[in-house]
Amino acid sequence: MAIGLMDIQGQYAEVSERVETAVLAVLRSGRFILGPNVQAFEDEAAAYLGTAGAVGVANGTDGLTIALRALDIGRGDEVITTPFTFYATAEAIAQAGATPVFVDISPETLTIDPDKAAAAVTSRTKAIMPVDLFGLPADADALAAIAQERALAIVEDACQAWGATYHGRRAGSLGDLAVFSFFPTKNLGGYGDGGLVTGRDAEALQKVRMLRFHGSRDKVDFELLGYNSRLDELQAAVLRVELSVVDAWNERRQRVADWYAHYLPTEVQRPNVPDGCTHVYHLYVVRTPQRDAVAAALKARGIACAAYYTRPLHLQPALAFLGHAAGDFPVAERAARENLALPMHPNLTEEQVREIATTVAEGLRS
Ligand SMILES: *Cc1c(COP(=O)(O)O)cnc(C)c1O
Repeated sequence: MAIGLMDIQGQYAEVSERVETAVLAVLRSGRFILGPNVQAFEDEAAAYLGTAGAVGVANGTDGLTIALRALDIGRGDEVITTPFTFYATAEAIAQAGATPVFVDISPETLTIDPDKAAAAVTSRTKAIMPVDLFGLPADADALAAIAQERALAIVEDACQAWGATYHGRRAGSLGDLAVFSFFPTKNLGGYGDGGLVTGRDAEALQKVRMLRFHGSRDKVDFELLGYNSRLDELQAAVLRVELSVVDAWNERRQRVADWYAHYLPTEVQRPNVPDGCTHVYHLYVVRTPQRDAVAAALKARGIACAAYYTRPLHLQPALAFLGHAAGDFPVAERAARENLALPMHPNLTEEQVREIATTVAEGLRS
């Protein structure tokens, strides 16, 4: 039996009645933009995360750009980030007018290496943008210490990490501002595009609220050059239902990860979860120098898998102006060559995980 990388339809089946009721109510209400569901979702999300507030936006990429703008980060400013992430992280920095400054990642966690971030700070640096990669929070305390010493902001890209924790605090509460994406494949996924800006800086969140609506508080005076970037009522209604089950789904993902840890051959490097952190496995990503052979074996058996960020951001054509070359970030480049995401969703069975692990072992021997 074929095994998919994700199971969006299976997850939908678990909540379909509640989602359909909620969506129908929105359709009948005639209110589609910035109505009661967006307001309620923002309140529920902020309470869940333990943040000063939350502001729905159209998608995670806009959220990152708007978060930087809300912190007055733009032209002439540098933002330190990781080259091993989805392209939108660096794209958003550049769209805000600032310059992305890449530093290499930790080989243990694949998140930004705090020592390398500290070494990259210049007089132009305004912020660090760590990414909670694949569902694991970046090393927030080490980054906060650097930010405090050098008076920098932290803008947490938490797009992949709804529900993850770092020493008892939620991903999304670890920076001055933080951003989530509700793209359908994320572990808290809507049925279309959506995003959220959150964090501890209440004043900046007010500015995010203006920026998502053309830079206006009241639709009369337009104080800033903003954006038309709102979470819509239909998505908010869906997300409110999903918010009520996401912890259970994350726990089931964690149980699948435990099975993988048990059954995978020891030569394959599993995700490393530092003490004090919980991982929510938006993706379950292993590493092996024989990545391509393992992927071929899985595909031959109808088991989906995917290599992520195979061209790290410093080697992307649109960012060539930064002047990087292959070899600049060896840890990221090695991760790009060796990583492989295995199927991960709440409905995988132990039997399926065992079959996947057996096939991985075959791939290693091929
Ligand atoms: C998905 C994602 C984004 C972008 O989110 P969209 O909602 O697709 O715009 C940004 N950063 C990371 C790390 C992501 O995974």
